[in-house]
Amino acid sequence: MVETQRPGRPVANRSHGQWAVDGTTPLNGNERWKQEDGGLAVRQRILDTYSRDGFASIDPTDLHGRFRWWGLYTQRRPGIDGGKTATLEPHELEDEYFMLRVRIDGGQLTTEQLRTIGGISVEFARGSADLTDRQNIQLHWIRVEDVPEIWRRLEAVGLGTTEACGDVPRVVLGSPVAGIAADELIDPTAVIDEITQRYIGIPELANLPRKFKTAVTGHPSLDVVHEINDVAFVAVRHPELGVGYDLWVGGGLSTAPRLGERLGAFVAPERVADAWLGVASIFRDYGYRRLRNKARLKFLLADWGAARFREVLETEYLGYALPDGPAPEQPATPGDHVGVHRQKDGRAYIGVAPTVGRVDGPTLVALADLLEAHGSRRLRTTPHQKLVLLDVPEERVEQVVAGAAALGLSATPSPFRRSTIACTGIQYCKLAIVETKDAATRAIEQLEQRLAGVEVGAPISLHVNGCPNSCARIQTADIGLKGQLLPDGAGGQQPGFQVHLGGGLVSTDRDEAGLGRTVRGLKVTADDLPEYVERLVRRFMADRDGGESFAQ
Ligand code: SF4
Repeated sequence: MVETQRPGRPVANRSHGQWAVDGTTPLNGNERWKQEDGGLAVRQRILDTYSRDGFASIDPTDLHGRFRWWGLYTQRRPGIDGGKTATLEPHELEDEYFMLRVRIDGGQLTTEQLRTIGGISVEFARGSADLTDRQNIQLHWIRVEDVPEIWRRLEAVGLGTTEACGDVPRVVLGSPVAGIAADELIDPTAVIDEITQRYIGIPELANLPRKFKTAVTGHPSLDVVHEINDVAFVAVRHPELGVGYDLWVGGGLSTAPRLGERLGAFVAPERVADAWLGVASIFRDYGYRRLRNKARLKFLLADWGAARFREVLETEYLGYALPDGPAPEQPATPGDHVGVHRQKDGRAYIGVAPTVGRVDGPTLVALADLLEAHGSRRLRTTPHQKLVLLDVPEERVEQVVAGAAALGLSATPSPFRRSTIACTGIQYCKLAIVETKDAATRAIEQLEQRLAGVEVGAPISLHVNGCPNSCARIQTADIGLKGQLLPDGAGGQQPGFQVHLGGGLVSTDRDEAGLGRTVRGLKVTADDLPEYVERLVRRFMADRDGGESFAQ
């Protein structure tokens, strides 16, 4: 058993213009406040002062900076149209209410936890609840006065918001069927627990250049979109060393998308936490901090290359060489786990699809009741804005499927309901230009009617973003839509989308995966979206060659 390292002291005075956390001047404003008084420190001020004295008492740097370390963002003030997003100051765009992100590492939830989140939603969040594409649940309309009570309730059931946002190690994506699926190579739960219990919320890793995203899977469907994470561990079978993980680094989307790269290194399960810490520490010590839009790990990897990155990891951080290892195999099944599947213990797991991840507090509570009534006490969130219901006895499957469907959670969704995801959009997001969730829902409903009876075959993924950022991963979708305003023909503007086509993560080798391409000049208004997608799907089906996928 390899003893897991403690985080070392930050290494100062690295080259390449970055600033180590105990490092050099001049720091920019963002780096200065992070160094002077880190994001974790604001928790006590929320508990002692801000929750008592209200929104107006919040220090602006806390409000727009440190609050994120505790999963809190101010939400967009209602009624401000997308044309003003770029022209108004942040304080003019924001409301006195917060989005609160509940961190759910590995997407693992008990029914007690689900009921707690649902109850908080009903009592403090006007019933709002969105499943995110990083396995979290986000609530809206949160008042700072209520945050201590919300934390108390979450923490009483083992949940929290620690480092749910901010320049920190974010939620660890984990296979939604970890420890469950009959066909998994290895259960990554222990690895996820070790990383989160040792390294989340500690000062040594609470000031990274920017966010640091992690994914771990032991399932052959490659179900955690590992290619777009800063670090990912993907289960593989080594011919001599048995089952362990293939190490990927440097993926990320946003406005400068880049798929992660394999380092060609095999990581034994008991060494994953070490390797994770090494990669996170490289990011902390060498990562670029001067410009926030160049501060993700992918830019360092692009400059260094995979070979140098691995060498630094092994020599400066691990103190030992990692063996070479194989790449993951091409997945045979989609990784969204929708539908009914057999568990390794003979019971069933059921993947269900809420529409674009939008649920609500009463639905979460009712789902917890439904599961418990049929003998299940566990479920998972997925990186596709879906839910997987676990431990359903075979004789109860039909009843659970019917009960979930009555809650709007279908186990047999149409290809469009199954594969459409949408970001938060203009309803709550201060960066948004257009509305997303309702536009995507309308598109799904119309496509289900327009293409009723048409055998579409494999799901066609439709990802809808409200701005040029890529919270809904537009570059990895068959049809990716990037929100922007378009001329309305009468001198004004209307909401619409820039189209990306042909993205897809085939997931085993970076050279084979693909990011969607912007189709030059191709834009569609929000109103025309269903018709446009219908045309595209019909044309694809008429022209496709055998089993060709949309991405090809
Ligand atoms: Fe907000 Fe843009 Fe992200 Fe959507 S993609 S949630 S609009 S920042």
